[in-house]
Amino acid sequence: MKIAIDGPAGAGKSTIAKLVAEKLSFVYVDTGAMFRTMAYYFLSNGIDTSDEEAVNASCDDIEIRIAYEEGEQHIFLKDKDVSAEIRQEEIGKNASVVAKYGKIRTRLLNLQRKMAESSDVIMDGRDIGTVVLPDAEVKIFLTAAAHARAERRCRDLQEKGIACDLKEIEQDILARDEEDMNREIAPLKQADDAIYLDTSDMTIPEVVAKIIEITEGKRV
Ligand code: C5P
Repeated sequence: MKIAIDGPAGAGKSTIAKLVAEKLSFVYVDTGAMFRTMAYYFLSNGIDTSDEEAVNASCDDIEIRIAYEEGEQHIFLKDKDVSAEIRQEEIGKNASVVAKYGKIRTRLLNLQRKMAESSDVIMDGRDIGTVVLPDAEVKIFLTAAAHARAERRCRDLQEKGIACDLKEIEQDILARDEEDMNREIAPLKQADDAIYLDTSDMTIPEVVAKIIEITEGKRV
């Protein structure tokens, strides 16, 4: 069974998807981490992410590997676990830039589809219900007001010991949404058959319970 969760930056997709995965014993696949790892590689190797030709030229050299430790997704660049480093805002911004390029998307699309072949998955991203897993049994479009999303993201970063400026985060989030919604290939949009869930006034357990209820409904 496949659950697709799409939505804008900071909507709580990964927090929710992780909890739903735990409760249903599904594998959680965080596709944003893959784009972030690509961006991390380019930044670490001095490649300008706005230069599509340069990005394309080194795209095939990147070895991304995903492993699970106690249900937690870890992402590796060759042998280096970069799961923590890729959470920085700077990486998120650059992930959004390289996510526009067809070559990057095709490369990651293959990896994402392969991961959904072997087990029950809950996958989150921007184009899961529309492009990656169009046949997913459950599709959720998870969103919240920009201010609520910025507050959540700030809290997450602070918990990880990373300083943040709420106003700056809100601006970054809006800019990223703008970029993700308006790109040519696989833009962020709600699939026709997705359920729209605005979580601005919902608690995490409420959202998790709702998605489980929807999923159980599809199982019978
Ligand atoms: O979800 P997260 O913030 O980690 O994603 C980082 C960036 O990766 C997004 O802003 C988006 O541009 C890109 N992305 C994408 N398609 C996905 C997942 C993420 O384009 N399925």
